[in-house]
Amino acid sequence: MGAPDVLIVGAGPTGLALACQLVRYGVDFRIIDAKEGTTPFSKAIGVQARTLEIYEQIGLADKLIEKSARAFRRKK
Ligand SMILES: Cc1cc2nc3c(=O)[nH]c(=O)nc-3n(C[C@H](O)[C@H](O)[C@H](O)COP(=O)(O)OP(=O)(O)OC[C@H]3O[C@@H](n4cnc5c(N)ncnc54)[C@H](O)[C@@H]3O)c2cc1C
Repeated sequence: MGAPDVLIVGAGPTGLALACQLVRYGVDFRIIDAKEGTTPFSKAIGVQARTLEIYEQIGLADKLIEKSARAFRRKK
C-alpha cells in the first residue's frame, strides 16, 4: 500500500464528509481514527440547516429529506 495523497485524521462526521468529497473528486486518501470502532452512543438526532445546505451542493438534500421525518417547532 503506497502513501496516499491525503491523510484524514479522525473518522467523525467531519472526516467522513471530507472522505465522501474526496471519493467524488477521485482523490487518493487514507482515513484513520484513534478509536478502534464505532461508538455505541448516538450524537445525532437532527440535521442542522447548514448541513442540509452542504448536502444540497453535493446533490443529497432531496434524497435525505424524502427519507427523513420532519421536526416542527411548536408555536407559543
Ligand atoms: C450528545 C450529543 C448529541 C448531538 N446531537 C447532534 C444532532 O442531533 N445533530 C447534529 O448535527 N449534531 C449533533 N451533535 C454534534 C455532533 O456530534 C458534532 O458536531 C460532530 O460529532 C462533530 O464531528 P467531528 O468529526 O468534527 O468531531 P467528532 O465527532 O468528535 O470526531 C472526531 C474523531 O476524530 C478522532 N480523533 C481525534 N483526535 C485524533 C487523533 N489525534 N488521532 C486519530 N483520531 C483522532 C476521534 O476519535 C473521533 O472519532 C451532538 C453532539 C453530542 C455530544
